[in-house]
Amino acid sequence: MASYDLVVIGTGPGGYVCAIRAAQLGMKVAVVEKNATLGGTCLNVGCMPSKALLHASELFEEAGHSFAKMGIKVPTPEIDLPAMMNFKQQGIDGNVKGVEYLMKKNKIDVIQGKGKILGTGKVQVTANDGATQTVETKNIVIATGSDIARLKGIEIDEKRIVSSTGALSLDKVPSSLLVVGAGVIGLELGSVWRRLGAKVTVVEFLDRILPGMDGEIAKQFQRILEKQGFAFKLGAKVTGVDTSSATLSATIEPAAGGAAEKIEADVVLVAIGRVPYTDGLGLQEAGVVLDNRGRVQIDHHFATSVPGVYAIGDVVAGPMLAHKAEDEGVAVAEILGGQAGHVNYDVIPGVVYTTPEVASVGKTEDELKQAGTAYTVGKFPFTANGRSKVNQTTDGFVKILADAKTDRVLGAHIIGREAGEMIHEAAVLMEFGGSAEDLARTCHAHPTRSEAVKEAALAVGKRAIHM
Ligand SMILES: Cc1cc2nc3c(=O)[nH]c(=O)nc-3n(C[C@H](O)[C@H](O)[C@H](O)COP(=O)(O)OP(=O)(O)OC[C@H]3O[C@@H](n4cnc5c(N)ncnc54)[C@H](O)[C@@H]3O)c2cc1C
Repeated sequence: MASYDLVVIGTGPGGYVCAIRAAQLGMKVAVVEKNATLGGTCLNVGCMPSKALLHASELFEEAGHSFAKMGIKVPTPEIDLPAMMNFKQQGIDGNVKGVEYLMKKNKIDVIQGKGKILGTGKVQVTANDGATQTVETKNIVIATGSDIARLKGIEIDEKRIVSSTGALSLDKVPSSLLVVGAGVIGLELGSVWRRLGAKVTVVEFLDRILPGMDGEIAKQFQRILEKQGFAFKLGAKVTGVDTSSATLSATIEPAAGGAAEKIEADVVLVAIGRVPYTDGLGLQEAGVVLDNRGRVQIDHHFATSVPGVYAIGDVVAGPMLAHKAEDEGVAVAEILGGQAGHVNYDVIPGVVYTTPEVASVGKTEDELKQAGTAYTVGKFPFTANGRSKVNQTTDGFVKILADAKTDRVLGAHIIGREAGEMIHEAAVLMEFGGSAEDLARTCHAHPTRSEAVKEAALAVGKRAIHM
């Protein structure tokens, strides 16, 4: 029976990062993983494969639609889907191997199998061949992530009715794709297949897309996506999918009630969110309490109701994002190492990796209004940014929200190309409690798209230069 300081169950971005940080702090660490590969949802069926397909499909669209106006003549590009999927797989393999290397480098034992918590200090691991072993450890971190959320009555076969996992591996471009859910995953994967030739319709229960993100940004994003060819049915729900014919027929009902309609599609993508994954972990028997949404309940130090058992990432409350899981992994390892591990939940960026990208950090205007916080707004459009003009990529704008009294930046929201990179200067500023004035007085290289961030900060004080 091996004995460890820490056993981490799950090797997604939360789990493997936690293991590395704990090893750096001198702990003897093992990770338990039920899948054949390390890296969790993010590396295998989430962040990384979706970004590979977004990248490839974006270049396909650029080659077909944008090269000619820049004076680049290429034959009409064609899709070689198996090669594109191979490109995606190479990216996955490279990253998975990278995690394997990091486990070895940090002398972290990798135990293949499904972990079950037997109580404080004991994890039972059942390997694929059924063999079990019990591992002793001072501490346990649950990092088992999440699984796809399902729609009642609609069975996902991962061929015609797919989750994000199936949508990352379709073997041909569907001529029509119905996406259920206008959240990040639905819009990213909808973008991939639209660029490759599918007619994409998105059905969303709420009356807006990207719930949780800034409303003004979401409105402009919807208009841009519609120009790209997306069709939206908002305030509507999919109540069933008839699979009896070669083409699927989905029944759509208004969320508020009323007459149903049918939409036909080759493929239906169910992207209504994700649910915490705790199957087979033995939490109930071990006495680990869950909250009312099935997430592992933790305190401010990531501790569950059972001594020596902690939890991080998608399996606990908070945004289901890889970098949130990673930061929690580092924080809990540091707490176990006697340090003051901490995550600032007010400054966790969120990015939609479409074209244009949407990126956000901190409070939205809706949240500030709801909280009754007095705030000032500075906005700057990319149409007035020199670099965006010469590149002819002027969709979108930057919006900075600052406290009306103190000028402290409370939120930043960007829609535009490379928004996902630009958002970080606002994040760093916010971590240091910086003001719009601080951002406005920071010299930005010219010509960059980031100058729009500086101009938006200047606009908070009503003194943008180029507008
Ligand atoms: C299509 C898609 C795109 C996404 N894109 C992004 C993005 O661009 N940016 C972003 O920040 N987030 C993105 N996400 C979300 C991101 O993948 C998750 O937030 C992140 O993976 C959560 O990390 P985690 O470590 O908590 O869990 P996971 O990555 O889900 O890993 C959990 C691991 O635990 C293992 N496990 C579970 N139970 C057991 C057990 N009992 N024993 C042993 N092992 C077990 C699982 O096999 C898995 O490997 C995306 C998700 C999807 C589905």
